[in-house]
Amino acid sequence: MRAEPAAATAVQEDGGARIVDGAAVARGVRARVADEVASLRASHGVTPGLSVVLVGDDPASAVYVRNKEKQSVEAGMRGETIRMPATTTQNELLAVVDRLNADERVHGILVQMPLPKQIDPNAVLRRIRPEKDVDGFHPVNVGKLLIGETDGFAPCTPAGVMVLLEEAGVPLRGAEVVVIGRSNIVGKPMAALLVQAGVDATVTVCHSRTRDLASHTRRADVLIAAIGRARFVTADMLKPGAVVIDVGMNRIDDPTTKTGTRLVGDVDFDAARSVAAAITPVPGGVGPMTIAMLLANTVRAARQLAGAPVAALR
Ligand code: NAP
Repeated sequence: MRAEPAAATAVQEDGGARIVDGAAVARGVRARVADEVASLRASHGVTPGLSVVLVGDDPASAVYVRNKEKQSVEAGMRGETIRMPATTTQNELLAVVDRLNADERVHGILVQMPLPKQIDPNAVLRRIRPEKDVDGFHPVNVGKLLIGETDGFAPCTPAGVMVLLEEAGVPLRGAEVVVIGRSNIVGKPMAALLVQAGVDATVTVCHSRTRDLASHTRRADVLIAAIGRARFVTADMLKPGAVVIDVGMNRIDDPTTKTGTRLVGDVDFDAARSVAAAITPVPGGVGPMTIAMLLANTVRAARQLAGAPVAALR
């Protein structure tokens, strides 16, 4: 089953796989979000607000959080970051979540993971009001996703993969989709989205205990890799003509770059391009979709909390 060429993909002159341009698709999502923000302000006088809580000083988390605030403000939202010291107690963090839960100007709450070890992440995730849980990690939203209720929030990375597949014109009905990885933030919700009636993929979820992984991946019309191991998926693991979605973000040494490191995916991109029909690059594939979907979830949270009609899910 080959994907039809679509605007989100660029045909390669060398005949290799089409490259799915996640940065371009993410720009489109952010533009739609900005339109929705403007129309909600006009119709209901509401400006969607996203509050991100950052505990401690993990440098990677600081970069993510800065980008979330910047992009939410660019989309016309109220974006704020609440920074708390690494010594913050669980009760102090829960008190902040309670305050944000009660604040009418705040429609989306995100507590950046990982948290310092004295804080139980599950206790924090469960404290966020499900209606404001735009990361989609509260058990209520996880349950809604599984049973196909559409007023909850799906985790942003797998939700972004669904938009990429749609924009790239990848047929999913009846397709064999293999997901490698079963984390709560990527693999499991990815499978839940794909298996819903209406999407209708046939989904296999693989993990580190899967026997003969390649026998599964070689059946895949669509392969989604969310493993966290650099260039783990090799060309011989792919079915010719497959669509390959690479969620992985792995930093490897590269003395030819200024920083001495480079970001690569879970798929051996150069080799896979000669076998696949379409593939997402790293960086520039799934990565940009994650924050775009966070903004899309926040504007939808604002619409739902304001009692405004919700036309689209993204
Ligand atoms: P994770 O929680 O570490 O999960 C990794 C999964 O891969 C686990 O289910 C694990 O199996 C499986 N796995 C590990 N080694 C394997 C092997 N040899 N064969 C088959 N399966 C194997 O990671 P994650 O949070 O899901 O993230 C996965 C990757 O996506 C990472 O590179 C992360 O940086 C990236 N990511 C990117 C974004 C984005 O915005 N683009 C967002 C989130 C994550 P077990 O369960 O059996 O251990």
